[in-house]
Amino acid sequence: SAKDKGRNSFEFFNDQLSEGMHENLMLESALRMAVERNELVLHYQPLVSFNDFTVVGVEALIRWQHPIQGLIPPYKFIPLAEETGIIGDIGLWVLREACRQMVEWDKAGLNVARASVNISVQQIETGLLPKQVESVLKETGLAAERLYLELTESTIMQDPQQASLAMTEFQKMGVKLAVDDFGTGYSSMAYLKRLPLDRLKIDRSFIKDIGADTNDEVICKAIVQLAKSLGLETVAEGVEEESQAEFLKGLGCDVAQGYLYSKPVPALELTASWKKK
Ligand code: C2E
Ligand code: MG
Ligand code: MG
Ligand code: MG
Repeated sequence: SAKDKGRNSFEFFNDQLSEGMHENLMLESALRMAVERNELVLHYQPLVSFNDFTVVGVEALIRWQHPIQGLIPPYKFIPLAEETGIIGDIGLWVLREACRQMVEWDKAGLNVARASVNISVQQIETGLLPKQVESVLKETGLAAERLYLELTESTIMQDPQQASLAMTEFQKMGVKLAVDDFGTGYSSMAYLKRLPLDRLKIDRSFIKDIGADTNDEVICKAIVQLAKSLGLETVAEGVEEESQAEFLKGLGCDVAQGYLYSKPVPALELTASWKKK
């Protein structure tokens, strides 16, 4: 009967729900252990100048080297890390590891000018980040000017006053600031003007159809012009084709990041390819 069916589908829904919660709990405890067991790794993707196509920096991107499941991409665990607060520990680890790696490259005679690290909104909310950054820089000996922190528009707009306070602290230390995935969120132009920003990263969604979608081309042009008038550097994310690079260079975009130049790779792989040159 319909009544039976109704009950069955309710129970089915219930089962699914508890299974999902169970999975999340398992993932959560596995993630907590991953931090302690050193299963998290950073891969690095070069950023390339449109002027002379030399590497001007790298972005640190987290992966989870799971003993059974292999390499897990960030979209599969960063959201849970953010919901559960584990992102605090993970974020601090990322910061420390990226700065440590930079100093290691320095010692090996490889000059990687700058490293970028992604910051989650929860790291801004706790108010702990400026002090943590300060102590990691001191501890590792990396010059503040060589560290970029990447914040999305939604991270900034979540609590603009808190974000602004933190950003002012970073500016005082000499740490650089970038808006990540620019164009996909809602930033207020008033904040863009007022915040101590150094660079805008044009989201990949506007880059991927250059050559096919004139709307995207117009948007890229507008973003580069906006950035220029505000005195900010522009980085194009997700450049995969030569034609996209040519178009962006023609607009006066400063820096490229994308598979056309390199995918994110383990530190050792970058070290090896640089040594060969
Ligand atoms: P994001 O910060 O915008 O990083 C750029 C993403 O675009 C990376 O994905 C990178 O691998 C990918 N990408 C770069 N060039 C290309 C390209 O030419 N084509 C395509 N299809 N993709 C390209 P990934 O490494 O999977 O990271 C995804 C997101 O996860 C990051 O986006 C960032 O939001 C987040 N994330 C990564 N590492 C961290 C971290 O340490 N902390 C936090 N809070 N978030 C992180
Ligand atoms: Mg980023
Ligand atoms: Mg991005
Ligand atoms: Mg992103």
